[in-house]
Amino acid sequence: MFKFEILHESKKSAARVGKIHTAHGTIDTPNFVAVGTNGTIKALDSATVSEIGLQLMFCNTYHLLLQPGTKIVKEAGGLHHFINRKMPIITDSGGFQVFSLAYGSVADELKSRGTKNSGELVLKINEEGVLFRSYRDGSKFLLTPETSVQAQKDLGADIIIPFDELPPYHIEKEALQLSIARTHRWEQRSLEAHFKDRNGQAMYGVIHGGINLDLRSQSCAFLTKLDFDGYAIGGSMGKTKEEMHSILAHTLPQLPKEKPNHLLGIGDLDSIDKGIALGIDTFDSSYPTKAARHAVALTWQGPLKLTKAENATTFTPIDKNCTCPTCRQFNLAYLHHLFKAKELTALTLATIHNLHFMVEYMAAMREKIAKDLI
Ligand SMILES: [Zn+2]
Repeated sequence: MFKFEILHESKKSAARVGKIHTAHGTIDTPNFVAVGTNGTIKALDSATVSEIGLQLMFCNTYHLLLQPGTKIVKEAGGLHHFINRKMPIITDSGGFQVFSLAYGSVADELKSRGTKNSGELVLKINEEGVLFRSYRDGSKFLLTPETSVQAQKDLGADIIIPFDELPPYHIEKEALQLSIARTHRWEQRSLEAHFKDRNGQAMYGVIHGGINLDLRSQSCAFLTKLDFDGYAIGGSMGKTKEEMHSILAHTLPQLPKEKPNHLLGIGDLDSIDKGIALGIDTFDSSYPTKAARHAVALTWQGPLKLTKAENATTFTPIDKNCTCPTCRQFNLAYLHHLFKAKELTALTLATIHNLHFMVEYMAAMREKIAKDLI
């Protein structure tokens, strides 16, 4: 059911145009994947997201496990039914969020909400997996390769991710080596659990190794021997764009060309441009939707701050050539007003435009690759 087809390989770079076929439809590649953490793109319903033409949506297993619980989603007929999305969905393993509880990002998120010390939420990390408490109600969850895959079976996304360990950013090479070895064992266990009930789903292995190129090579060597349907590039990508570029330039040639690959959690326009030329097929990021909620509209001329004073009397759309529902119906002065008045509609209208922009941007990139311009 899952199939990757390469339609054109650029003569100028490692960029390629392709199609990923899934049970819920086709994803043209390269493509942008919007993040709908809790089973929704923030401020948009699924019908609107489909109308915009977003072909792949990313949902987070950790969040759905805690609320409403993957069993309830299963009872609803799976994630596609539950959120009324007919197009493809990808879910992650929950590993990233669970380890962030201990080492960063999610911890910071909880701290800012006044939730108790997230370090206390992680009860045990060992070879089996991670025992943690829900920050919502204190109930205990055991996340292992097997329970993560089971949760993703219950959700029923088209593409799923094996359970992995997210090492802290500041880690010595020996400790990172041990972490990667464990991640490899966990990914193998995840794949074995997946093979017991494929459920029409595809699984992408996650390449780790942090900023250490030797470890990236080791990760590629180990994981490409396993029968994953594609590969995602995860772990720390360094602190600068240059570091990310060198990690990707080193890693991508070591992945099988005939399988699709995905860059986890990075999707600003500059990184997309660089990643595409190196051969990345899909990118997920909350950047365009988050920017929209912060009153930043993406345009071909660069980001546009909707709340800047001059927009109060600009009676033209964000972009007069944009065909999105927001630009067809509303002008900048109205958007400026909605943001200033703190109306929720502002978030919806800006998100529609930014997501539509990403869909158009990626279509333009595919056209450029087809003409060997990238
Ligand atoms: Zn627009």
